[in-house]
Amino acid sequence: MEQIERDTLEVDVLFVGAGPASLAGAYHLRKLIDRYNADHSDGLGEISIAVIEKGREVGSHTISGAVMDMGPFSELLPDWKERGAPVEAEVADEEVAYLTRRSKFRLPIVPPPLRNHGKYVVSLNRLIRWFAPIVEAADVMLLPEFPGAELLYDESDRVIGVRTGDKGVGRDGERRETFQPGADIFAKVTVLGEGSRGSLAKKHISRLKLDEGRNPQVYAIGVKEIWELPKGRVKPGFVMHTLGYPLPNNIFGGSFVYGMQNDLLDIGLVVGLDYADPFTDPHQLFNRFKQHPAIAALLEGGRMLHYGAKSLPEGGLLSQPKYHGDGFLMIGDSASFLNSQKLKGIHTAMQSGMLAGETIFEALLAGRFDDSQLSRFAAKVKASPLHRELYEVRNSHQGFRHGRLWGLFENGIQFATRGMGLLGDLETEPGHEKMRKLHVFNRLPRRQGEYIQADQPRPDNRLTFDKVSDVYRSGTEHGEDQPPHLKIIDPDICIDRCTTEYGNPCQYFCPAAVYEIEEVEGGRRPKINFSNCVHCKTCDIIDPYQIIDWVTPEGGGGPDYINL
Ligand code: SF4
Repeated sequence: MEQIERDTLEVDVLFVGAGPASLAGAYHLRKLIDRYNADHSDGLGEISIAVIEKGREVGSHTISGAVMDMGPFSELLPDWKERGAPVEAEVADEEVAYLTRRSKFRLPIVPPPLRNHGKYVVSLNRLIRWFAPIVEAADVMLLPEFPGAELLYDESDRVIGVRTGDKGVGRDGERRETFQPGADIFAKVTVLGEGSRGSLAKKHISRLKLDEGRNPQVYAIGVKEIWELPKGRVKPGFVMHTLGYPLPNNIFGGSFVYGMQNDLLDIGLVVGLDYADPFTDPHQLFNRFKQHPAIAALLEGGRMLHYGAKSLPEGGLLSQPKYHGDGFLMIGDSASFLNSQKLKGIHTAMQSGMLAGETIFEALLAGRFDDSQLSRFAAKVKASPLHRELYEVRNSHQGFRHGRLWGLFENGIQFATRGMGLLGDLETEPGHEKMRKLHVFNRLPRRQGEYIQADQPRPDNRLTFDKVSDVYRSGTEHGEDQPPHLKIIDPDICIDRCTTEYGNPCQYFCPAAVYEIEEVEGGRRPKINFSNCVHCKTCDIIDPYQIIDWVTPEGGGGPDYINL
């Protein structure tokens, strides 16, 4: 194999992924260093901090609900209001409702975990795009279009940096004239803040067995759209969460509806990625949700503008991997810092990033970046309000293991017992292991070789959309001449086993129509429309054989989210 000469860059601290956790961490660290240097003539000197991001701009891959607890952001930027941070509105009116197929029942009170008084409806995507130049102006290098392709280790498995992805490799794996090798970025500390199911974090956790003795991570997928509604119908700051239809009792999840400014409505559905039926299609369920009479009436006369999807780590504290070690820290969704009961991960991501920043600051003062120094991160988390918040909801997702009704009851008990619930700390199993085979649902082929597919209603392109039309509204693009970034490790399984055992569920769980089974001469084969991929990682999470490996595509590829 021809040796590739790579550019190298040395920085002191490298954050991977420019989401809220990394930006908060990098900004907080820079401020700590600046303050220290101003107070000490023999200060720390020049400390370089870089953040790499796979999207074409910082923020283009950022997506969240979101109703945001502004606490940590206010610590970072106390004058965010005066500076004109693009928040939509303070939560003004909130409700929780239970949906049956045709009716909606508003709960008389909003359960305490879902109370959002004093919080703000935001488009995280807009907020991050606004915050990024402030971070950059504070002397943090932001490097969009730099996907982290692999972690670099020394001979004793200490993390020493990141290799970024190559550019100009063709679909056939051959280098084109435009070939540009990725750079090796070396750092004293590498901080993984890639978000849910980070591709580097996944391999790193497995390599160093960082999840040994912890619950396996469990996930959900959120599918959402932004609608423009007739003037005056949307009340900025309105927040509604629903349970029930269209999710059956045994599928975890619920919907969210948030009022934004300028007549925009943020509407989405969260579906647990630990369901049994392989024909479960979160995008299709979202369409059904919008067809509910109460929701259809809300959207009547409106226009869908934007679409996006992402996975969320639901396992909480008990699914956290060891998030520190020689030369590295993990923050945000990558380290399971999301509060699944409150459906909130932005403020917890920011808090984790800031505590990581404080840990790195102390490491810079000590001149040591080994695990014993960086383990102070865990001590800081444990002593912080972040730990207290996550501790009290540590069994929340597991509480739903026997279905929604039991889950609501058990979460009530957990609320009264600071998270303990009826049975103490509960174990989980990986979501993909809960998927059951077709015969369990009596979906048997009528004749030899028959291929069973789910019946799916046609969307009307007014209220409901097919996946390809939705992807179009996510701004997603990938250069066509590059190797697919969805690697099927053993494609024979797709047709030889998956077709008959599970009916190729990739066609259903992917919210972007990436996977198709096409008829070819002599049979069928999987087709991967990788350019549609919105980077939600659902396939990597729930594929029942665990043979799909999501790796970073060429830098700049993926969605270009707006208002999401
Ligand atoms: Fe999500 Fe995988 Fe589909 Fe991409 S291919 S949109 S990561 S499920």
